Amino acid sequence: FDDRDGWIWFDGKLVPWREANVHVLTHALHYASAVFEGQRIYSGEIFKLSEHSTRLRKSASLLGFELPWTVEELDAACIEVMKANGLEDGYMRPLAWRGSEQMGVAAQRTKPHVAITAWEWGTYFGHEAIESGLRLDISPWRRPAPYTAPTESKAAGLYMICTLAKHRADDRGYNDALMLDWRGQVAEATGANAFFVKDGALHTPVPDCFLDGITRRTVMDLARRRGIEVIERKIWPEELESFEQFFLTGSAAEVTPVQSAGPWNFEVGDLTRQLRKDYLDLVHRRLPNA
Ligand code: PMP
Repeated sequence: FDDRDGWIWFDGKLVPWREANVHVLTHALHYASAVFEGQRIYSGEIFKLSEHSTRLRKSASLLGFELPWTVEELDAACIEVMKANGLEDGYMRPLAWRGSEQMGVAAQRTKPHVAITAWEWGTYFGHEAIESGLRLDISPWRRPAPYTAPTESKAAGLYMICTLAKHRADDRGYNDALMLDWRGQVAEATGANAFFVKDGALHTPVPDCFLDGITRRTVMDLARRRGIEVIERKIWPEELESFEQFFLTGSAAEVTPVQSAGPWNFEVGDLTRQLRKDYLDLVHRRLPNA
């Protein structure tokens, strides 16, 4: 992915794609002192841009480093990257990390860096999944307790668990994995939040040890606008049997139906389709912002 044309914003200026490199002693490479964002560009606009820039700064802060760029400066940089790469629709990846100025676990003297990349990226799971729903593995890897890691941070280190879960799902022929948390409650997928439908209401786990996704909150809003009840609560895996529909939400995943998770099956139902349509209408500005 590194050998192509394009422009990457790197610590304040645009550099050619192939030249956006770091030193092997980068602290983040050794000790996972990196955080990132993922946001989509729709018809020349970055959806919920400031929320993503705010979360990037907060994620870094939770890992103990402050970014030398304000939310407004990060927003402007993202727009510059979109324009420099001539993207009308695509995906954008801001990344912040501790540099190579100091080696060892202690990192107070490292410099914070930021790079922003963007590229064309269609649907995350493919068109077939949108029609017939994803098949999810139930991962043996669990989301850690909030006293084990800063789980509110979109920290690169926490994605080690996601990659393990995703690879296992791939090897077993699934599209993705549903992860439980350290208590055994339903948490999220490897890059998206989980919603269930039962008797016309939405049920979703309390995000107390995983990301409270920007798409998650957007979809909750959209559901409430339609008068659909939204219930945040503990959900145990045994309950999956009683849910009629299941879908995932995320900036990359948008709203994607699930047809099965382990032994449990779901229908790709009207409520899921409606919320997917509402979400796409919102991001394409066919619906007003809440
Ligand atoms: N959980 C994980 C692990 C994710 O990677 C993502 C994608 N950022 C989400 C949830 C959904 O977050 P958002 O809706 O803010 O993209």
